Amino acid sequence: MTNWQEAAEGQKKNYLADLTNIMKIASVRDDNAATDEFPLGPMPAKALQAFLAMAEKDGFRTKNIDNLVGYAEWGEGNETLAILAHLDVMPAGKGWNTDPFQPVIKDGNIYGRGASDDKGPGMACYYALKYLKDHGVHFNKKVRFIVGTDEESNWTGMHRYFEVEPAPTLGFSPDAEFPVINGEKGQASLKLTVPAGNGDGINLKSFQSGLRFNMVPREAVAVLEYADAAQIKMDLEKFLADNPVKGSVEEDNGNVTVTIIGKAAHGMEPEKGINAGTYLATFLNQYPFEGGAAHFIEFLAKYLHLDTRMETFDGAFRDDVMGEMTMNAGILNFTAEDGGHIDMNFRFPKGITPDQIQQIVQPVADQLQIKVEQGPSQKPHFVPADDPLVQTLMKAYVDQSGDQDAEPEVVGGGTYGRLMKRGVAFGALMPNTPNTMHQANEYQPVADLIKSMAIYMQAINDLVTD
Ligand SMILES: [Zn+2]
Repeated sequence: MTNWQEAAEGQKKNYLADLTNIMKIASVRDDNAATDEFPLGPMPAKALQAFLAMAEKDGFRTKNIDNLVGYAEWGEGNETLAILAHLDVMPAGKGWNTDPFQPVIKDGNIYGRGASDDKGPGMACYYALKYLKDHGVHFNKKVRFIVGTDEESNWTGMHRYFEVEPAPTLGFSPDAEFPVINGEKGQASLKLTVPAGNGDGINLKSFQSGLRFNMVPREAVAVLEYADAAQIKMDLEKFLADNPVKGSVEEDNGNVTVTIIGKAAHGMEPEKGINAGTYLATFLNQYPFEGGAAHFIEFLAKYLHLDTRMETFDGAFRDDVMGEMTMNAGILNFTAEDGGHIDMNFRFPKGITPDQIQQIVQPVADQLQIKVEQGPSQKPHFVPADDPLVQTLMKAYVDQSGDQDAEPEVVGGGTYGRLMKRGVAFGALMPNTPNTMHQANEYQPVADLIKSMAIYMQAINDLVTD
């Protein structure tokens, strides 16, 4: 039997050279530079073309579909194993110690945009496939290594692929973490509209919290007309002493601005954040508001505050295999003229539907004259742990990593795995390696990448041989 770790070590030099070339291409989607030829701007397509040129030189059959997505193919058979990676990257952002598009290896880590998401893992997996091809392994099925160029936004390329190419039999995506992610919760959102106006109460001119539906709001700012700013200052000091948030009060010509700072977190794990918006509403709830403003504040303070599981709505739901339904209140805005807009984002396991989720919220919303509409939704995705695909991938991971306690995982959503009925996410972030995806100084330990290449070698080998 081949020693996959040794085989992967042998590929290290060439792998790092090819990876470096791909990482030097700043393949960020740029809608301002979009043309008919380059619908996502030129750079994602440039990375795609460079990848396909390399794969063609390596002896694969290749295809570029509209400069959006492409593949390298090997093997013959009725079945197709698809491997879904991506070549686009997030914008670099600020705070880098090195040039994000000039990869460097320091202390055994490779630094640069795409090192861990997803160029490093994707290229490790490509090298695993290339190794098996070059060493005469007989493939009993076709393997397509498919590379998207818009994973970080709308999945334009991968969606195009599944429109125009036949559906693969099974597949995995090396764009997440080890071990296997065999389940992804569904997503649903509710858009709530609260009536405008303040009645005869305090004038709540505006309330703003949250930038995106899938983030826990870090900051919340309310502007109200109130004569006694000193009183609000005193009240806020008391509130801050009892709560895990920071805050301040400013007064300007009878307008009082109250700011609360909490903690941001990803919307799929809202319990890890501190929602500044619901804290601010809870603070304001002691004052006499009326009309739409009162309904808005009451809904946030009484129902959304400290509740990411819908317990105050009596609507908590869990599935034994896929876990709990979670809710993030990501956008919480109100103005006296336009009323309130609240965005509730749900990640839900199998066993519940977006309609049923709406029915949990509806009675409370009706009481407060709040209108509820459903936003876009995605179904939960689940491949049973006893599916041979999951079993084969788990075995490859356990054999090569020695991590005997590993179990398949369910996450809040968002991998290419869901594009295929028998699709999962598989690697390449190791359980004890920090996740630096989308951050400044993104990196991946080179040893992890080589280890993941060995895992992919065994996995693909076992999936394509009898
Ligand atoms: Zn990714």
